[in-house]
Amino acid sequence: MTARLAEPLTTTLGKRAAGPLAKMGLETVDDLLRHYPRRYGDPGRMTDMDRLQLGEHVTVMARVASATVRPMRSRGGALLQATVTDGRHELSLTFFAKRAGALRPHEDKLRPGRSGLFTGVVSDYRGSRQLTHPDYVLVGVDADDDEEAMVEASRPIPIYPATASVPTWRIQRAVRTVLDPLTEDDVVDPVPDEVRARLGLPTRLDALRAVHVPDSAEHWQRGRRRLRFEEAFVLQAALAQRRARAASEEATARPPRAAGTGGLLADFDAALPFALTDGQRTVGDELAAELARPRPMQRLLQGEVGSGKTVVALRAMLQVVDAGGQAALLAPTEVLAAQHARTLRALLGPLAEGGMLGGAAHGTRVALLTGSLGAAARKEALLSAASGEAGIVVGTHALLGDKVQFADLGLVVVDEQHRFGVEQRDALRDKGRVAPHLLVMTATPIPRTVAMTVFGDLTTSTLTEIPAGRSGIASHVVPAANPRWMERVWEKVREEVDAGRRAYVVCPRIHPDDDVPGGGPKAPPELEEMPDLLDLTDGEPASDRAPLRAVLEVADMLRGTPRLDGVEIGVLHGQMPPGEKDAAMSRFASGEAPVLVSTTVVEVGVDVPEATVMVVLDADRFGISQLHQLRGRIGRGADPGLCLLVSTAQPGTPAAARVEALAATTDGFELATLDLELRSEGDVLGAAQSGRSSSLRLLRVVKDADLIAQARAEAAGVVEADPGLDGHPVLARAIAAQLDAEQEEYLERA
Ligand code: ADP
Ligand code: MG
Repeated sequence: MTARLAEPLTTTLGKRAAGPLAKMGLETVDDLLRHYPRRYGDPGRMTDMDRLQLGEHVTVMARVASATVRPMRSRGGALLQATVTDGRHELSLTFFAKRAGALRPHEDKLRPGRSGLFTGVVSDYRGSRQLTHPDYVLVGVDADDDEEAMVEASRPIPIYPATASVPTWRIQRAVRTVLDPLTEDDVVDPVPDEVRARLGLPTRLDALRAVHVPDSAEHWQRGRRRLRFEEAFVLQAALAQRRARAASEEATARPPRAAGTGGLLADFDAALPFALTDGQRTVGDELAAELARPRPMQRLLQGEVGSGKTVVALRAMLQVVDAGGQAALLAPTEVLAAQHARTLRALLGPLAEGGMLGGAAHGTRVALLTGSLGAAARKEALLSAASGEAGIVVGTHALLGDKVQFADLGLVVVDEQHRFGVEQRDALRDKGRVAPHLLVMTATPIPRTVAMTVFGDLTTSTLTEIPAGRSGIASHVVPAANPRWMERVWEKVREEVDAGRRAYVVCPRIHPDDDVPGGGPKAPPELEEMPDLLDLTDGEPASDRAPLRAVLEVADMLRGTPRLDGVEIGVLHGQMPPGEKDAAMSRFASGEAPVLVSTTVVEVGVDVPEATVMVVLDADRFGISQLHQLRGRIGRGADPGLCLLVSTAQPGTPAAARVEALAATTDGFELATLDLELRSEGDVLGAAQSGRSSSLRLLRVVKDADLIAQARAEAAGVVEADPGLDGHPVLARAIAAQLDAEQEEYLERA
């Protein structure tokens, strides 16, 4: 950054003006220039003073008749009242401030006799027309002549994210004060000149002027596009550098055993009770070849819910164990980690009982390492990881702890990656003596540009096929207000339970919470059961809605429902101690408690093949991807799944459209795209836990797909030619600043 951009606003604007801006996090000239307008107001056409309509945005040409500052006795603070006239009609201008001093600059400019253009929204005060905090351009002050005043007044009006103490017009003035004197030398550009020239983009300074002081709508659009490109470019350059660094890193090659020479993988494949799908085979070959190279694999495996990612990952792990290394599997929650360990042991059978009576001679061990283990169990798990006795170590982020040592970590598999940040990935990769191979699995399919933005340093494999023999899932929307339908819902649950199957009942909250009508959970929910309820109220006031259904209340209600007499009702939510969670899960899996009332803690990965029904209460309040993920918990065995989406949404609302879309398709890619279209970018990136929101202010991950692809290609070219970016110091600094911001956000979140 140049000295000019790094200058504190206190120096440029003075302490008084800079103070409130600092409260908004704007401390330097650069901060302020990156505070982009949220939208642009129409400057309005010139209006005759005798045609001022209430509520209309107008611009009038008039002369100042009087202007006086006086204190407001009733409210405190001060008031500047001015009158302007076109010779026949009068209009008042009103400005409020905490202190009279703040109004002096206006008073100074609005001298009687001066003329200019005044812009604002017409309101009524005691029967006369007025403009409150109008924008104005005075001839001889802000503009040399009438004509220039017209140009100034016809600019689109930037509307900034503002606060009560710093209104948008004050931000606008501050921006102009710092922007007007800047020259090209003051504003360095992370986008290299040759890239800019080739793509015909304006300079950074021109782009800043365009978005903050536009001549026309076309002008600010052009500027904004260029700034979006810049954001995409810096991000993609950072990702290209990560890729390049990984490509030059060394890793231990873990080639598959030659055919006919035995090994865990060969034994596993021979004993597998089902045939792999074509997709599992293709992706398996991809992984096998990459693990055989002396460069760290950096791969993202995305797949439809239920497409069988676990088996693919396990086969990769076995190849590594066969080659003498260890594999670590990271899950986002303890429930999932414990379940993964159980699943892997079950899939491996005697192959996971190395060194035990009845175990395979060359078998290995699956160790589970979570934060809730007792001291003895923990010590044993740590020991088996450090000695190499455990070929596979499963855990949560506790695996990132310093105390955990591996004998020879060859592969890290991260399941349901969107819960893990880049930093956590790196921390785990640092655990090997050389970089381990890395396989990241996402819970749901994600659109291409999101993959490019959030996981842009990884190459992608995709599983689209669902294994044969699944009977699929039927989904229906059930109106909550219809008692007969609700009766039928519980009847259906009973029928399935009587047939020896299981039912999930999912609620958005844990506790009934009567004093917060329609509000969210009282205690901050754990990450693992964060119901995705953000921004889904569709603008409806919270007080107009019935309270959300809560786990504890619904469980009580079901226990008292005659239809479910004699059926054991289990409960699962994130505030239960880990031991109780495990117990609830196994009682459900075994059928002892065949109905499980839970929060979204069952969202990812939980695998109980006998579960056939899922009732989602307040389904209209969940996000699409989350519902799709939840629904993936059923229909995993031979019996068809039935998902009942109980909704309170009024027909025709976006909420109703969401649940209907979900009932209509089970295509994860289609739903993921729809989901993104309905969300704001912050949500997308927030949900991805990428921590990149602070550097992406204007870029939209879905709508700017073309820009992202273009930036990715350009950035790859620049990094390839100059991997250290020695010839691009501005770009290198922008990347470093972005990483700092990420680090900071990560620490704040932790
Ligand atoms: P996800 O991709 O959602 O993580 P899982 O790996 O949990 O899916 O697999 C879902 C279920 O399908 C598991 O019970 C698994 O054993 C089973 N499965 C995996 N691959 C196949 C296959 N090729 N044929 C039949 N069943 C399979
Ligand atoms: Mg899974």
